[in-house]
Amino acid sequence: MKQLWSPWRSTYIDSFGDSEKNHDCFLCSASAPKSNDPLVIAESAHTIVIMNRYPYNAGHILLSPKRHCPDTLLLTDEEYLDLMQMTRTMHAVIYAVYSPHGFNIGMNLGEAGGAGVPGHVHVHIVPRWSGDTNFMSTIGDAKVISSSMEKIVSDLKAGYQSFLQNGHGDDIVSGATL
Ligand SMILES: [Zn+2]
Repeated sequence: MKQLWSPWRSTYIDSFGDSEKNHDCFLCSASAPKSNDPLVIAESAHTIVIMNRYPYNAGHILLSPKRHCPDTLLLTDEEYLDLMQMTRTMHAVIYAVYSPHGFNIGMNLGEAGGAGVPGHVHVHIVPRWSGDTNFMSTIGDAKVISSSMEKIVSDLKAGYQSFLQNGHGDDIVSGATL
């Protein structure tokens, strides 16, 4: 089985690095006004939330600043705070929608750090289920994952709208005791 993405050691760039030039940044494309990218789940003032095209797991999403920027150290305080707040919001949304048993949340910075798109910093959120190594084996065919992607985007969009209306509900607080 081909490994699509491992937390902290991303290899998915290999699958599109040859066909797309570095300046053709998919995170910038998704952030462009009226991009109509079907994989975009949510956006805030400075942050875009997008489904990972090559997910490690169902519900694996990416969050990035709208500005093409390689490192969080180069973000303004406003951009960084917005990125972190959206990361916590989407963590809560995924918990509310899918009730995973755990999460991997983090960044790979620079090529040496395993960044798939080293020019444009992004946070990975990967929901995890006990025994999901086996789960991954059963949905390891990328076509199977992509056929369910529309449903996941739709679920998470609805979850985000619900979060905007209700904020941190009791169910979210209980999620913190995973
Ligand atoms: Zn970019």
